[in-house]
Parts: sequence; C-alpha cells; structure tokens
Amino acid sequence: MIKIQNLHKNFNNVEVLKGINLDIKKGEVVAIIGPSGTGKSTLLRCMNFLERPDKGIIEIDDLKIDVEKVTKNQIHQLRTYTSMVFQSYNLFKNKTAIQNIIEPLITVKGINKNEAKEIAIDILKEVGLSDKKDFYPSKLSGGQQQRVAIGRTMAVNPKIMLFDEPTSALDPELVGEVLNVIKKLAYQKTTMIIVTHEMKFAKDVADRIIFMDGGNIIEQGPPDKIYNYAENPRTIKFLKQVQLE
Ligand code: ADP
Ligand code: MG
Repeated sequence: MIKIQNLHKNFNNVEVLKGINLDIKKGEVVAIIGPSGTGKSTLLRCMNFLERPDKGIIEIDDLKIDVEKVTKNQIHQLRTYTSMVFQSYNLFKNKTAIQNIIEPLITVKGINKNEAKEIAIDILKEVGLSDKKDFYPSKLSGGQQQRVAIGRTMAVNPKIMLFDEPTSALDPELVGEVLNVIKKLAYQKTTMIIVTHEMKFAKDVADRIIFMDGGNIIEQGPPDKIYNYAENPRTIKFLKQVQLE
C-alpha cells in the first residue's frame, strides 16, 4: 500500500537520502533505527513534503507522486494520507488540548465544528486525557503534550502515522505513558513508521526493524533477526553501541 522508490534528498549539495526504497503493508509497524545524522528524520519529512525530495516516487494507495512533477493537489492529498508526530510535540500553544485536536479535523478534513468536537472527545479518551481537555499545553507535562500530539494525528485518520523520536524529549518517567499509547495503536493495526532509540520498545511493537546509516537502508528484517542475527557489520556495530548505553 505504501511504496517509496529511489528517493533522493540533498541539502547544500550533500546527499542525505541516497535512493531509499521502501515497501510497507497496510497494518504494518516499522521501526527505523540508526545513528544520528543518517537521514531518518529527513525520510519521514519527505514522506509528507515537509521537505521536498529531489527525486523518486512516493506511492500511497491511489496516490502516486513522481516528486519531480508533483502538483499542489497531490501534496495536499499526501498530507491527508500521512501524519507526523514530532519529537517536540508541535502543539498550538494558544489552543487547549481539545482545540489542538479539533483544528486539523476542520482544516485538513473539512469536518464541521460540532462533529469535530465529538471526535476529539473520543480521541482524548483514547489517549487517556479526558480530564485535561481544556488545559493549555503549558499546563501539561511533556508526556501529556505528546499524547495530545498523537491524538492530533489520530484525528485525521491518516493511512500512515509517522513518529520521529516521539519520546526523546521526555523525562524518563514520562516515556512509558507515551509508548503505551503508541503500543495501543500498533495492536489496533495502525500502519506506522517509528523512528526511535527505544530499542526494547521497537522490538516489542515493530513487525520490522530498519537500520539506516549514511542515507541508505543498510539492513532490515523482523526484530529478532536484526537484534540477534544482524549480518551487516555496520548494523552489528550500532547495536553493540546502543546496547552498552
Ligand atoms: P537523523 O534524523 O537520522 O538524525 P536527519 O534526517 O535529521 O538525520 O539529518 C540528516 C543530515 O541532513 C544531517 O547531516 C543534517 O545535518 C542534514 N539536514 C537535515 N535537515 C537539514 C536542513 N533543513 N538543512 C540542511 N541540512 C539538513
Ligand atoms: Mg532525526
């Protein structure tokens, strides 16, 4: 259902994505691991045109984009198909928890305000924040803010959810509550790509682990295979390093 072919991205003549090929099935949970600076965020950002890729094809269901010939309509459609959760939450600071969830329902989905409100109430329940619905982000913990941010992406019901290190800005004691919400989505067979440094979490939720290094996918497979029987020396070296941390 999702197919990325030969995706390239340069920043200032430095090639950051060197021809990524990636197929993801509906309901599949894919975790991307790898050293920093290897293009993991750039790959996710290219998947909804927060960064414009230079070359390649992005296909999601009926939408097929040749990135060199992309149209405005295609970018809009792509952004209804993919939705991203950032490390830094990216909530509207002047909107309450519920308003943050209502907003994309109205602007992206074109749903009317009353209906959007009902959907938002259900979603706040799912992320365990019913009692915080009228709180502004500044009155919420990092973990709660990130759960609102996840609620925002759930609201638009994307075909794929993209998580970019969703817990790396959190204090350690708040990581679990966020991972649990993501786990719940995984059990519900939400199609997801999760960039993460949480190795145990990745093993628990992912159907497939992808190791990226230097703008390429180096190795991929089921968690057990990658963690215990990696074949590429770069994968093995990276795993040794993170397991020592
Ligand atoms: P990762 O998420 O794996 O840590 P990134 O995708 O953030 O890596 O970055 C890959 C490389 O691209 C890095 O060298 C980074 O400095 C560079 N880069 C990322 N975003 C930009 C940008 N907007 N402008 C210039 N260089 C960038
Ligand atoms: Mg990153």
